Amino acid sequence: ATPMSIMVGIGRGAQEGILVRNAEALERMEKVDTLVVDKTGTLTEGRPSVTQVRTFGGYGEDDVLCLAAALEQASEHPLARAVVAEAQRRDLALGEVTEADFPTGKGAQGQVEGRRVLVGSAGFLEENGIATDAASETAEALRKDGATAIFVALDGDLGGVLALADTVKESTSDALAALRAEGLRVVMLTGDNATTATAIAGRLGITEVEAEVLPDRKSEVVERLRAEGRVVAMAGDGVNDAPALAAADVGIAMGSGSDVAIESAGITLLTGDLTGLARARTLSGKVMANIR
Ligand code: ADP
Ligand code: MG
Repeated sequence: ATPMSIMVGIGRGAQEGILVRNAEALERMEKVDTLVVDKTGTLTEGRPSVTQVRTFGGYGEDDVLCLAAALEQASEHPLARAVVAEAQRRDLALGEVTEADFPTGKGAQGQVEGRRVLVGSAGFLEENGIATDAASETAEALRKDGATAIFVALDGDLGGVLALADTVKESTSDALAALRAEGLRVVMLTGDNATTATAIAGRLGITEVEAEVLPDRKSEVVERLRAEGRVVAMAGDGVNDAPALAAADVGIAMGSGSDVAIESAGITLLTGDLTGLARARTLSGKVMANIR
């Protein structure tokens, strides 16, 4: 390889908001045939908001919301932030939290005002011995609309379900169309529920979905595709995407994402949208053609 054309390519990329961290990433980009893409924060804005509060067991909307929000205050998770924002929007006073723990990819649990509170996926509540069947139909309907359903348990019983909706980034559709036109296979990867993920994938024309993937297993999906002989780019923004970014042939972080993701990636898209990915691929093709 001629370092000079690579240097020029890296410089050109920087002008377009494509930060190349290692030269290999730029070299490999033209050979990529599969894009694994994180849903939340990469395809979507990653700033969900609470759109509905459904209650069970005789609780009121505000009771459910303010206990859940009190617990979620200490979490950085976008879903947690949305719950807190909704409680603030409703001017709810948040009770005292005496215990809080946030199992990754599952939710939050702790004590608020002396009450035991759990907030998270249906599976997380079930793991803790809380029946969620009463809310199954409600939750499934919300998911089919593309919302994430978050369950809230109060003192061991189901208290409510929150619907959280996230908007698809304006640039996502065009970026995916450009990548598909170049023959790329696109796989959505998410920790979110399969119904929600499939609903959003459907809007974007994505037919391959890997959902309900726990954070520490995201890299396994990338490794499996590589073992099948695919040349894989992984695009993500979160702390939980970092191992998958590192496992890919080319890791691509969103500039809007976490530092850990950026450090694990070979390329960072400063504008945080996927149109940069198609441009990075074109740039790679030009650089490599120069070298050959
Ligand atoms: P994603 O891949 O969509 O960013 P995560 O792996 O972070 O998702 O989380 C997977 C699922 O775990 C979420 O869809 C949600 O159901 C639940 N979850 C994780 N963290 C929290 C939290 N702090 N509050 C509520 N639910 C959470
Ligand atoms: Mg994400």
